[in-house]
Amino acid sequence: MKLHCQIEVINRLHSSLNIRSSGKYLKSTLALIKEPKNETEYSLLLFSTVNKTGTKYRVKSVKQMFVKFVNEGKATIRFEEPPHDLCIKCEHIQLKCFVKLLRSCITGDTKTIHLAKLSSVAVTHKETPTKLVIRDRSGFPIKGFPRTLENLSISGLNICNFRRDILLLKQLVVLDLSNNAIVAIPPELGNMPNLAELHLANNQLGVKGKIDWRWLLGQQIKNRLKLLDVSGNELRYLPKSIWKVQSLVTLKLDKNLLEYLPNTIGRMNNLRYLTIAQNNLISLPCSMLQCHLDYIDLSDNKLDDGGTAKSEMLKNNPWEMFVASLVDLAARVVIKQKMPYTSDIIPWTLVEYLDDANTCICGEPVLSKDHYSYREFQLKDYSRVVVSNNNRKNTVSFLCYYCSPKCA
Ligand SMILES: [Zn+2]
Repeated sequence: MKLHCQIEVINRLHSSLNIRSSGKYLKSTLALIKEPKNETEYSLLLFSTVNKTGTKYRVKSVKQMFVKFVNEGKATIRFEEPPHDLCIKCEHIQLKCFVKLLRSCITGDTKTIHLAKLSSVAVTHKETPTKLVIRDRSGFPIKGFPRTLENLSISGLNICNFRRDILLLKQLVVLDLSNNAIVAIPPELGNMPNLAELHLANNQLGVKGKIDWRWLLGQQIKNRLKLLDVSGNELRYLPKSIWKVQSLVTLKLDKNLLEYLPNTIGRMNNLRYLTIAQNNLISLPCSMLQCHLDYIDLSDNKLDDGGTAKSEMLKNNPWEMFVASLVDLAARVVIKQKMPYTSDIIPWTLVEYLDDANTCICGEPVLSKDHYSYREFQLKDYSRVVVSNNNRKNTVSFLCYYCSPKCA
């Protein structure tokens, strides 16, 4: 008899060594078989998605059966040797039959039982698809996406709406929706528990003006997303909150309409690979000097333009008159100590205020916008590889805010 179920194997030796079990139930097959050499001996064979060769447990070695919750479809079989507990979850009627049969094998009351011999047990596991590439509209699965998908690509289909059934794919790691016509991302995307790569290149983000960026604040995405590709859209700005995706390593922003980058970009501690080619940037935020980039592509921007116009814009207040407010001083501490802040803890106006902070060239947070200037820096001092074709001087203009007269 074969039982298709979910099993967690607990090694009791591990628990005595204080090694915690994973708590993961795996899709498994448990087969009760007769030994070919000795017809009065029975064994249990356990196969799972990760254990395809199978593990054999002798029925003689069953030490105890815990069947109190068999009506709820739960039971545990404890073996003397190996010291394993098989925790079973299964449809309760099947489980009851299986337990009854196993009991008969243990007591030796097997006259009426006909069991398969070892050789005839063939376990077939249905392949669980983990990758799906859809290249035309007829490629969508009729029964919906398999929940086991880890990699989904729906590219080049001119889809306008983000398909909400994607949000059900909790195993999804890579989502490629590039070359479509998507205008909005639902906030729920932020709750995808495993999403590490999001490809949205060549869509229509920003075409309708304001973009809903709330998905960036999802608790799951903030700690998981490593790659975000939004190149080839119509983005005019990036949200300040982008820095909250602390796991981000690669950010691709090429071919948009960006005129500036948020000040908070310098707070993205893991960012290594940044491409902003073919935008309208005239300067970079000073905070970027705090990034530890391996690669930056700035080609085809407006970083060379308007040098004089930029300096004319400067209207600094005199330092003598400057006194930092109490809110400023408190905010500096919050940012410097990297204290977490969200609108559930403090008013959202304060969240905005904190997200608006700049970084001085010395690395200190600056809240006041009273003292600033454009300065040229050699970007190659700050990034290992710099790709830039439009800058003769090899320097880039940074908009710098200053924390004190000694930095200005
Ligand atoms: Zn400073």
